[in-house]
Amino acid sequence: MARYLVSGGAGYVGSHVVLALTRRGDQVVVLDNLRQGHRAAIPGTADLVEADLADSPAIAEVFANWRFDGVLHFAALSLVGESMRNPLVYIAENVANTARLAGAAAKSGCLRFVLSSTAALFGYPERTPIDEDARLDPVSPYGESKLMAERALDWADRLHGLRSASLRYFNAAGADPEAGIGEDHEPETHLIPLAIRAALGLAPPLTIFGADYPTPDGTCIRDYVHVTDLADAHLRVLDHLRQGRSCRFNIGGGQGHSVRQVLDAVERVSGRPVPHCFGERRPGDPPVLVAASGRLRRETGWQPRHSDLDAIIRSAWAWHSRNPYGFGDRAGSGSPVLAARPAKVPVPS
Ligand code: UDP
Repeated sequence: MARYLVSGGAGYVGSHVVLALTRRGDQVVVLDNLRQGHRAAIPGTADLVEADLADSPAIAEVFANWRFDGVLHFAALSLVGESMRNPLVYIAENVANTARLAGAAAKSGCLRFVLSSTAALFGYPERTPIDEDARLDPVSPYGESKLMAERALDWADRLHGLRSASLRYFNAAGADPEAGIGEDHEPETHLIPLAIRAALGLAPPLTIFGADYPTPDGTCIRDYVHVTDLADAHLRVLDHLRQGRSCRFNIGGGQGHSVRQVLDAVERVSGRPVPHCFGERRPGDPPVLVAASGRLRRETGWQPRHSDLDAIIRSAWAWHSRNPYGFGDRAGSGSPVLAARPAKVPVPS
């Protein structure tokens, strides 16, 4: 049996990975400040250390208390729009936290590290689908922060022998409603939860951000991958790292779907209309982002099994309709960056 440390394990993707690890019998310690994550998202068999990644003594204590076979690092600021308003907060926090956690892992002798990375590394790609050799040219501070985090891990490999896998997610979506977990962000900015919540009457009509893109129906095309398939990719990549080489993988469900097609799927699955209107383009949105995930399939045997669009929507619909208030633990609302920052963490301005 192996033991893994999962930062951000109470968050959306992190909690589905924790579930998959515990289901295969691994021990998990979740490290989470619970400002964006949810205590109820963590299975009872996992340990929780409630601490911030800025808190070096708390991190050192975690590595002193347990021996880990690997670290999975999800905790990060992750909203593109918010990063445009707070660029240096995003860069400082995401890069420093990755470096701090990777440094503590290497110091303890734990030399396997998985970074939650993003398609935002590619900015406006020259061609699609996007493979791992595509030009890295982020167009947001969020994307830049993850690129810098990947590069920090390159140095950790060369100089400390830390083997890492950077997983560039395209659009994580869906839920594991049977396990009682799903997507619950505050504020929610993602298309699928907003469309479902609009259909349920829990959110205002959805605004489609732009219908004049150079795509067949004029709306943006994205590659949605079921969060359970993403979780399976993490387990396979952890095993793959035993070969002793750092790696990078792009992960998508394998097919592009337009915003319009997503709305049609929500209507088809739920039998309800999705109230919506048309608005301006959202700054920084490329027309098409679709992953070439061939390298991950070839090297780890990964296959998306739940990433058919209707299957994604069915699982998300089940989660949101059974849990209209998500995990029901929201103390307040507003920017998770600015509202949730502990006073002792310096904020670059
Ligand atoms: N989108 C939209 N209205 C919304 C939220 C998203 O039209 O209220 C569009 C967005 O422009 C993008 C797609 O839906 O083309 C997916 O956006 P999301 O924020 O879910 O993920 P992203 O692609 O930004 O990671």
